[in-house]
Amino acid sequence: MVPLFDEAPSLVDLHHRLTLALKGLAQAYEVIFVDDGSRDGSADVLRALHHQDSAVRVVRFNRNYGQHAAVFAGMERARGDVVVTLDADLQNPPEEIPRLLQALTDGVDVVGGWRVSRHDSWARRAASWVVNRVTSAVVGVRQRDYGCMLRAYRRPVVDQILACPGVSQFIPALAAGFATSVKEIPIDHAAREHGRSRYGLFRLLRLNFDLLTGFSLLPIQLVSVIGILVALLGLGFGVFLGLRRLLVGPEVEGVFTLFAILFFFVGLQILALGLIGEYVGRLYQEVRRRPRYVISEVLE
Ligand code: UDP
Ligand code: MG
Repeated sequence: MVPLFDEAPSLVDLHHRLTLALKGLAQAYEVIFVDDGSRDGSADVLRALHHQDSAVRVVRFNRNYGQHAAVFAGMERARGDVVVTLDADLQNPPEEIPRLLQALTDGVDVVGGWRVSRHDSWARRAASWVVNRVTSAVVGVRQRDYGCMLRAYRRPVVDQILACPGVSQFIPALAAGFATSVKEIPIDHAAREHGRSRYGLFRLLRLNFDLLTGFSLLPIQLVSVIGILVALLGLGFGVFLGLRRLLVGPEVEGVFTLFAILFFFVGLQILALGLIGEYVGRLYQEVRRRPRYVISEVLE
């Protein structure tokens, strides 16, 4: 299944290459396109593909709800024993799907692609490096490339993912949490041919905040630990100043140092408040129970 947002120029080529790769498998398959509120004519291309190929199913959202909501919708409709996800921009070569399925041996529930030579900007790769490490720690499953969406999931894992009611879930992390065993295989990665990445800096930041607070209490616990350490340091400093006063006499200078220290702690407090806000916000979204997305059209 393929989530897409404004990818009209790639779709015909993608469908062609996907069909070739899937036909070669000699297994029953379906291709689900989830149109995440595109406005560039992707819908017309998808309708044409659906008419010409009965294996193509299309789900369209009424507006943009994000890539992971789209993947969710695709998984909800998928009927196969194995679900493969990939991007629509041809950065994930469909020709890698057979290898992905080969790696899905007994006992492995999820196979992830690992983009060995990534064709993205260095800033993006650096950010991913951090995110992969943090996500591995938070989820408790070490993976080299959580961001790669060329993945294969077995039915039980898909069902587990679908049973999660939470908002804005990060699918690869959810899957890693449920899988008995996850395997990663190196795969090819191409540069984007049409348009630019749909993830700007702000969107990436939001996704990663969601990821952190949606999967663990680690950030807030970390702040608590820092709080304890700072309090202990403050206590030690107080004792030191008291002794100094007795032995050397009172001190007067160092006002600006004090300011620097103050700013540091004020910053920490604001951070802690923000983090609490983040969790409260999540609770709020959760109790509101708004639907994840609204479907405006289904072709099958
Ligand atoms: N995508 C989507 N909804 C969004 C943003 C992206 O369905 O709101 C799709 C997009 O069309 C593409 C995939 O998700 O098929 C990955 O997006 P993109 O290529 O922009 O991300 P990157 O490759 O830079 O990580
Ligand atoms: Mg891409």
